Amino acid sequence: MISIDKKQNCCGCEACIQRCPKSCIQMQQDTEGFLYPVVDTESCIDCGICEKICPILNQSNEKKPLTVYAAKCKDESLRLESSSGGIFTLLANEIIRENGVVFGAKFNSKWEVIHDYATTAEELAQFRGSKYVQSKIGQSYQQVLHFLKGGGNVLFSGTPCQIAGLKLFLQKDYENLITVDFICHGVPSPEVWRLYLNDILHKRQSIPENIRFRDKRSGWKKYSLSISFKKMNTCTKKLTFAQSVYENLYLRGFLANLYLRPSCHHCPSKSFKSNSDITIADFWGIESLLPNWNDDRGVSLVMLNSPLGERIFGNINTTHQECEYREIIPLNPAIVHSAPAHIYRTDFFHDLNTHKYSISSLVLKYCFTPRERIKRIIKKWSGIK
Ligand SMILES: Cc1cc2nc3c(=O)[nH]c(=O)nc-3n(C[C@H](O)[C@H](O)[C@H](O)COP(=O)(O)OP(=O)(O)OC[C@H]3O[C@@H](n4cnc5c(N)ncnc54)[C@H](O)[C@@H]3O)c2cc1C
Ligand code: SF4
Ligand code: SF4
Ligand code: SF4
Repeated sequence: MISIDKKQNCCGCEACIQRCPKSCIQMQQDTEGFLYPVVDTESCIDCGICEKICPILNQSNEKKPLTVYAAKCKDESLRLESSSGGIFTLLANEIIRENGVVFGAKFNSKWEVIHDYATTAEELAQFRGSKYVQSKIGQSYQQVLHFLKGGGNVLFSGTPCQIAGLKLFLQKDYENLITVDFICHGVPSPEVWRLYLNDILHKRQSIPENIRFRDKRSGWKKYSLSISFKKMNTCTKKLTFAQSVYENLYLRGFLANLYLRPSCHHCPSKSFKSNSDITIADFWGIESLLPNWNDDRGVSLVMLNSPLGERIFGNINTTHQECEYREIIPLNPAIVHSAPAHIYRTDFFHDLNTHKYSISSLVLKYCFTPRERIKRIIKKWSGIK
């Protein structure tokens, strides 16, 4: 039976739970806010299935993509709504047009990130845009299997380890399944996100209407987190909070690797080990490789890993240009390397569990030098005056 000796040995894909014939595994939240499987040993029959399908215990070989493109969708408003070049929505639309089903990550009513499925183009909007929080897979692998057996086309999108978990859960290839992952920096703790958001909402006495982790209104490269709220008790007044990565403390902590899942520092799915058909990413460094494309509205890096991936990409209407794989690795090292943990990661979670500090104050404490903290305070004061 599955047993997690070190936290880094579980990426939280939930494949084991969804396959266990005795339903005797449950996810439990740890003190960092990540979910891990716990087996009810009384009910376990020691069949070993959970170990056979775990993507950490059964890693594939490293691969290289078949073809690599810089690509962007031609619809400018769709590109602006998406994190990079809007390629995910174009691929997903193709499946929906053929009456297929698309799985992706969305916010639920509590602004937690969960996996769900869409059957219409309108429903796809909820998956659009990166959410920098680990998504809960729930029952989605079982739902994928149900749709695959029904004979319709299914597109499943998620982190590389979620794709690896799905493939092992299914145990065989299906011609009607297309998998799309992305180059993955890592996923932050859902509990850290919950505490951060609660703090923001409490200060403003507001309810969120929309949250975007990659609001492009001030540019693609600025990585802005924006939240539009309704003021409590005054339904008419609307407020918007928008901060770039230079100002926003949640994004700063994410990109400094302060609260990523431990498995992300030893990722089991780098270098295309997920076996996905298509991998999408931000085309960082586009200004050096293709200067004419550099309009700060978002360009996708598209890596086609299978003939099926090549065929589906060939069907969508994009502006694209082929690139050399060896040229893009130095521009986006997360393709092959895991992010190292922040040196104060353990101290951060220790302080958090004393319940005395806000997420913002801890990011300031651990990710900023004293000089930077003073500059920030002065800037805030001068803003108030
Ligand atoms: C946690 C995270 C880390 C990332 N790290 C990098 C990186 O280091 N380098 C890089 O180049 N690109 C990274 N990306 C990918 C990039 O931000 C874009 O999501 C990707 O390029 C697709 O952009 P798009 O414009 O085609 O479509 P978009 O509409 O932006 O695509 C959204 C897609 O992402 C999926 N998704 C969103 N949030 C999550 C989530 N929390 N868990 C699982 N799936 C999710 C949706 O289901 C959908 O398939 C990351 C994305 C996420 C969510
Ligand atoms: S060994 Fe079998 S019964 Fe026991 S937890 Fe794993 S899958 Fe379930
Ligand atoms: S990585 Fe997935 S399958 Fe393996 S133990 Fe964790 S949740 Fe279960
Ligand atoms: S970095 Fe690796 S382990 Fe972490 S979420 Fe991404 S694919 Fe999974």
